[in-house]
Order: sequence, then structure tokens, then C-alpha cells
Amino acid sequence: MIVVMEPEATSEQIEHAAERIEALGLRAHVIRGTERTVIAVIGEERKITKEALEVVPGVSAVMPVLAPYKMASREVHHDPTIVQAGSFTAGGGIVGVIAGPCSVESESQIVQTAQAVKAAGATALRGGAFKPRTSPYSFQGLKKEGLQLLATARAATGLAIVTEVVASEDVDLVASYADILQVGARNMQNYRLLEAVGGSGRPVLLKRGPSASMDEFLLAAEYILNAGNPQVMLCERGIRTFETHTRYTLPLASVAFLHRKSHLPVIVDPSHGTGHAYLVPSMMAASVAAGADGLIVEVHPDPENAQSDGYQSLDPATFQVAMDQCRRVADAIGRQIQSVMETTTMAR
Ligand code: PEP
Ligand code: MN
Repeated sequence: MIVVMEPEATSEQIEHAAERIEALGLRAHVIRGTERTVIAVIGEERKITKEALEVVPGVSAVMPVLAPYKMASREVHHDPTIVQAGSFTAGGGIVGVIAGPCSVESESQIVQTAQAVKAAGATALRGGAFKPRTSPYSFQGLKKEGLQLLATARAATGLAIVTEVVASEDVDLVASYADILQVGARNMQNYRLLEAVGGSGRPVLLKRGPSASMDEFLLAAEYILNAGNPQVMLCERGIRTFETHTRYTLPLASVAFLHRKSHLPVIVDPSHGTGHAYLVPSMMAASVAAGADGLIVEVHPDPENAQSDGYQSLDPATFQVAMDQCRRVADAIGRQIQSVMETTTMAR
């Protein structure tokens, strides 16, 4: 951090500010300029808040130098992280596609969807068994039975399973079925859950909270990394704005921004990000063009009769066409949509 003193700060105030910095466990290097004095703070600045120094008399401004997150940051870990789980890979130039229904509803629904999305080129199957619904009266998911149906779909297709865990006490159960644990947007700042998935041994797909800033998002990822799990993917799924023509507003600049700040793979969810099936194919292509390391897309064999999020779910035929377009976009920018052919261990 750099502490800038007021032009009229007295020598006593400068000395006191330096003592405060030392008392907080850091070192102070005082630089006296012609108009102002600045103090360079040396040491692990993430341990203190800038406010702790802003209150010191004679201090004009405090400027952090390091990103508030460390393990998630490119400053500390330069090479891109590649996340791999069963049939699925994302990162390092490989774009992995996760597709499937919002919720697991029945064996025929999930197995049929798994076969269709695999045929179109997805390398992981999504499906919610525990659903975090806005209303307590909405369908809450099939829970354990849903997990068992996902395992059936994995056995039938070899696709890795991505499913949400909504509470820390469910992590062991969900991790015993899932290849990748999804932490939903509503839970991005549920720190006990982040620590629990950090200790689960399974890769994590962390969704951005609809009102979370990029620093908050990356600090949430930091919780998982800090708990010992290096396999974290950041998922941009849209934020809340004043706009109503889409369910959320999908900021694709997040992809390039997160790549600049972090080594973690960035996945885009154009389904929740737009909330309208007709917008999803173009946003899939746009996400690939923006350099996303993966997509998560809601696909349902009968969107009209889906138990949740049918209005934003693609039918398998539309998904297939959109995937063909994404492959052409990936080719054009020298990236590669992971294909089923190159998936190695299809069974877990
Ligand atoms: C979902 O993936 O179905 C879901 C609930 O997403 P989000 O947490 O992004 O709202
Ligand atoms: Mn959904």
C-alpha cells in the first residue's frame, strides 16, 4: 500500500502513521517529497484494510498495490489453470461445454438430454437435484433421487456430472455423485459452503452473485482455493441491472477482465444471463468469441413442460445448431471446443 499524507501533515503525524503501520505488523518506508510525504507499506498488505490507515490523523489517501485476492490472482500464479473432471476439460485453449436441464425431473428426461447434448458435442451434463428457488412454493428438485438419476445418465453416456450443492451439510452427499460441484449465484458469499466445497476434492463451478463485484467474486474463489482446492472455475451468469429486456444483464467483458486478473478458467452461462431461449445461441457464440473457457447451457427435451427455467432452455436441435456455430467461431479465433472424441476417461 502507499499512504499519501496531507500536504500540511506534521512530522509528529508522519511519525505516528509510520508507527501505526509497524504496529499492524508491516514495515513503513517514509519518502519525503517536495510537496508531500508518502509512506510505502512493505509486507503482506492483504492482512489489513485500507480503512485502518485512512483514519490515522494526517493521512490523505491510502492506495492498495496488490489485488485483495492472492491465490486466484495472476500476480501470484501466471499460467492458466486447466480444470479437468472425467470427460470434461476447460482452460488452456480448450473450451468445455456443459449442457443439460435446469432440474433433473425423471430418468427418461435426464438420460435423453444427456444423449442429445453429447451428440451435439457437450462434454459434461448439468442438472439440478437440489434447486435454490426464489419462491419456496416452486419445485425444489428431486434431491438424492435426482443425484441417483444423474449417476444413471453418466453411466449411459460417460459424461461428467455438474450439479449444485446448496448447503455445507450436503457437500459429502453431492460430491459422492457429482464430478463437479456447482455453487450457485445465491450462495456465492456463503463462506461456510465455500470452505466446505474447498475441502471436497471435487472441482468447483463458482457462479457470480447477481450483485457481486469482480473483487467480491474473486475473493469468493479465493475462499475455495485457500481451503485447499485448486480446481475452481469462475462462471459469469449475469448481474442485476435496471434493464428488463433480459432476466439478468450478461457482461461479456467479464471474460477478458477475469482472464487479465486471474488464471482460473472462465465459463459463461448464457441461459441465466439472458433468460430467453432465443437469445442463448448468439450469446453462446459471443462468449466463445470473447475467449470463454467454457459454456454452461440449459437444454431440455421439452422446454415448454420443464419444471424450471423452460423459457431459457434450448431444445436439443437448436443446441446442436448453436454448437456448430460455436465450433466455427472457436476455429476463427484459434481456440478449440473440446470434442467427445478426445475425452479420455469417459467412465469415472
Ligand atoms: C442454475 O444453474 O440452474 C441456477 C440456479 O443458476 P444461478 O445460481 O446462476 O441462478
Ligand atoms: Mn436454471
